[in-house]
Amino acid sequence: MTRPRAITSAVELFGVRTPTLPPATTTNSWALGRRDLVLVEPSTPFDDERAAWLAWARGLSASGRRVRAILLTHHHPDHAGAAGPFARALEVPLLLHRETRARVRDLDGVEVRTLDEGDALPVDDGGWTALHTPGHAPGHLCAWSEDSRTLVAGDMVANGSTIVVPPDDGGDMTDYLAQLRRLAALAPTLLLPAHGAPIDAPLEVLAHYVAHREKREQKIADAHAQRTRELGRTPTRAEVLPLAYDDTPMHLWPFALMSLEAHLRKLEREGRV
Ligand SMILES: [Zn+2]
Repeated sequence: MTRPRAITSAVELFGVRTPTLPPATTTNSWALGRRDLVLVEPSTPFDDERAAWLAWARGLSASGRRVRAILLTHHHPDHAGAAGPFARALEVPLLLHRETRARVRDLDGVEVRTLDEGDALPVDDGGWTALHTPGHAPGHLCAWSEDSRTLVAGDMVANGSTIVVPPDDGGDMTDYLAQLRRLAALAPTLLLPAHGAPIDAPLEVLAHYVAHREKREQKIADAHAQRTRELGRTPTRAEVLPLAYDDTPMHLWPFALMSLEAHLRKLEREGRV
C-alpha cells in the first residue's frame, strides 16, 4: 500500500496492518484538517506498524501542521489497539464517546475528552463534527464535514468486507439500521471507511447495506418460521442458521451466528418471530 495518500486537500490516509476481520488486513487512519489536525483510528497493536504510524504523525507536525487530537471511532481492538500509546507518545488528547471510554483499557496518563452527537472536532478548516452512530458498537462515532459532504464512517460500512453487529458486545441491529438510514439522509458525497478504499458513491453503498440487511432479516424470519413448523417448537439459533445463511460459506458461519443473533433480537422485539 502507498502511504500516506492524499484523499482531498484536507484528508490524508495512512493505512496500517491490524488483526481485523478477513478479508480485510488493515485499518485506515485519517488526518483531518489543513493546519490543525485530528488523527482518526489509533488502531495497530504491531510494533513495526506503530513505529510507522508515529513517524507519519510526527512528520505531519514537521511540515508546519499540528496534531491537535486523536479520535477513536469505537472500542474494537482493530481500531483502539494503540489508543493509549499513541496519545501518550504525541501528548495529545484522545477524543471518544463515553460508551467507548468504558470499554478501552490502558489510558493511564492520557487526557481523555468525551464527544457526543454534534460536538465539533478541533480542526482549523471547521465543519467537522462528531455523529453518534450506535449499532455496530454502542459508542460508535463518525466524523462529518458538512462543507465537503465527507463522512468518516468507522465501521458503519466497509469497502470489500462485511460489517458484523456483535450483540454480546453492545451491538444492536435496530440502532445499526436506523443509523445507516440516517447517514444516507445526510447525502454524503465521499465516504471514508475504516477498512478498504474510499467510497465515492456513498448513497449507493449505504442503500445496498440497508437492502442487504432487510433481505437477510426477511430470510431469517422465514427460516425461523419454517423450522418452527418442522420441529413443532421454537428452534435454536443453530437450527435456524443453515437455512438463513445457506448462501454463505460455512467458514463464515461463526460471524453469521452473531448477525443471526442480532437480527433475531430485533425481530423478537418487533414481535415478528
Ligand atoms: Zn468494529
